[in-house]
Amino acid sequence: DVDTDTLQRWLRVFAASVAEHKDELTALDAAIGDADHGANMDRGMQAVVDGLAATPADPAALFKQTGMTLVKSVGGASGPLYGTLFLRMAPATGGAASLDPETFAKALRAGLEGVVARGKAEVGEKTMVDALTPALDALDAALGSGQSLADALRAASAAADEGRDGTTPIVARKGRASYLGERSAGHQDPGATSAALLVAAAATAVA
Ligand code: ADP
Ligand code: MG
Ligand code: MG
Repeated sequence: DVDTDTLQRWLRVFAASVAEHKDELTALDAAIGDADHGANMDRGMQAVVDGLAATPADPAALFKQTGMTLVKSVGGASGPLYGTLFLRMAPATGGAASLDPETFAKALRAGLEGVVARGKAEVGEKTMVDALTPALDALDAALGSGQSLADALRAASAAADEGRDGTTPIVARKGRASYLGERSAGHQDPGATSAALLVAAAATAVA
């Protein structure tokens, strides 16, 4: 099951991955946005990792602290959206100290629903939702067919990567990139790229 240590590992791996891909995320955002997605996410995840020392013991408290830190420190469109993802995961844990795979999947689903409620993006509008939605669908399907959480997260990560790649030809309908209209096509979405790193980090942390 997924305990607080595993969840902290997820956040640390994601923070390290964002730092490693910071320039790539910024370059993607330079093409169709304002060239700050790498800096935004790196600043936010650094603040999250800095706060882990003072983290309360249960997953709900960890998610809440993470979400609030991201809202405060990331800014832009992605701060409130990533923040909402984690804030919505908190109540979905039911206060458990350790999450079984189905509960972890349900919490992630609640997080995605929060992102959609807040940002109003549907699949196919060139946003982080295009990576997260197929990832969580693949996670549910794999768990439903009896796979281990580690295997199911690997499947989810592959689906997230595919969803991220699928944003390239799309004309953006949400966020800054939508201001470019047709000129947004032909570029991979930065938020879908960081979201795929988030899912990959979960697979790494649980493996
Ligand atoms: P900003 O656009 O304010 O500079 P970032 O560059 O940090 O913020 O984040 C941009 C990313 O946020 C986009 O690549 C996209 O994936 C995501 N995004 C923007 N608007 C929305 C939305 N309404 N719903 C979901 N994701 C969105
Ligand atoms: Mg930006
Ligand atoms: Mg910005």
